[in-house]
Amino acid sequence: MNEQEAGWTPSSWRSKPAAQDVVYPDREKLDKVLNKIRTLPPLVTPSEIERLRHKLSQVQRNEAFLLHAGDCAESFDACTHENISAKIGLILSFSLILIWGARMPVVRIGRIAGQYAKPRSSATEKIGDREVLSFRGDNVNGLDPNDRTPDPERLLSAYFHSTATLNYVRGLLTSGFASLHHPRDWSLSHVRSPALREEFERITEGLSDALDFTRTIGFGADGGDRLSYEQGGGRGVLGEVDFYTSHEGLMLDVEEAMTRAFPVPSSTASTSRSAITNASRSPSAEAESQGERPRKVHYNTSAHFLWIGDRTRQLTGAHVEYFRGVRNPIGVKVGPTMQADEIVRLLDIVNPDREPGKVTLITRYGAGKIEQHLASHITAVQASGHPVAWICDAMHGNTLTSSTGLKTRHFGTIISELTACLRIHAECGSTLNGVSLEFTGELSEDGFSVTECLGGSMELAEEELGLRYQSFCDPRLNFEQSLDVAFLLSNHFKK
Ligand code: PEP
Ligand code: MN
Repeated sequence: MNEQEAGWTPSSWRSKPAAQDVVYPDREKLDKVLNKIRTLPPLVTPSEIERLRHKLSQVQRNEAFLLHAGDCAESFDACTHENISAKIGLILSFSLILIWGARMPVVRIGRIAGQYAKPRSSATEKIGDREVLSFRGDNVNGLDPNDRTPDPERLLSAYFHSTATLNYVRGLLTSGFASLHHPRDWSLSHVRSPALREEFERITEGLSDALDFTRTIGFGADGGDRLSYEQGGGRGVLGEVDFYTSHEGLMLDVEEAMTRAFPVPSSTASTSRSAITNASRSPSAEAESQGERPRKVHYNTSAHFLWIGDRTRQLTGAHVEYFRGVRNPIGVKVGPTMQADEIVRLLDIVNPDREPGKVTLITRYGAGKIEQHLASHITAVQASGHPVAWICDAMHGNTLTSSTGLKTRHFGTIISELTACLRIHAECGSTLNGVSLEFTGELSEDGFSVTECLGGSMELAEEELGLRYQSFCDPRLNFEQSLDVAFLLSNHFKK
């Protein structure tokens, strides 16, 4: 269905109730900032977005696995060379372990270059004896309790921090950072557990041998390292490997300002050979061949992938209205309050034409609740015939407060939701297509991994949590704990 025919415009969400709305005291200043953002260039391009749609259709068909990962929220202060390379390094290490075990390409989407806004369970919070507005992320207000009034200028600052981040990610990935010849550059030096280091080194040595072999038989002419990543060759979107950006599409004012009309790229020349193989002809290629002006569609040009949070997915709400009109692939968080028939109605709204690669369902029930909900959700979607990718977010249903008052998650509980998810999909004749994790390769100033989640092979104890707790939002798995998850998945899928 044509979006305009269905009464959609980039601003049609304004007539619907928006959950988690931010109230700006200075509306004029907000409009001025939004008008400025409207004139700034896109951060990502339609061809890149189309390529991700194609990749996600492969994920849906179980031909690739999706890794969606990064911080709960980025901060302006954490936009540094060290932090960005540590994030990309961890995503690359994680995906390498998965590719090695599962022998499947991995599609990497970072929660990066725009993941600033946060939904909150309460609009205000008590700090000392004061009741102040809750912190809503660096693009809205400050963490400092004296800086909680929403300031529109922060939206502009978020645009430029996203740009700086993305520019550096593109630079890293086109300068050989992802080369399999240097996986140790991705920072393994601080890993405490010798067993974990050895296991990772065994994989990289095995890969080096495999690369030498393919080169010897003349198979890796356009870059042997790329070949083993993509299993089909070709340059990725952000350099040597495919890498995509994402954030929660929460602040609709700014999402609207970054929404631009473009024809669907008529040629797939901008996508690599591997993407071309199965890509269908684009609508604009069809139109051109019939002598018509190509039809324009709306892309959100601030990220390749955006998702609707568990708190903003109301069927008649503003977020669902906005998301139904954009051409980007989208995610929908599915928590324990989602009804089985509600998922299908949501899919009917956001993907009426049942386009492959369009919708990713990110389930996040909690280890104690997944048994109650997942099977019925899978069965309902199967019966509807909607194509979706199923991703397990084993983080958001498993948050707890430690005895010292820190927000944390237990590694064992995360694994318990993940393994239940794998099992329930198998029991329902379905497949888990990916994971969504909050993790970080970030190190503390003294060079150690952060201490935000309990357990893992490093057996992080409750009394160690306070040592290097750096998240100002949800607790993230550190480098070692993330590799533990990667090995678990890799061993599960080993063929
Ligand atoms: C998140 O992904 O950081 C988040 C807030 O998730 P959810 O909407 O699932 O609670
Ligand atoms: Mn989070």
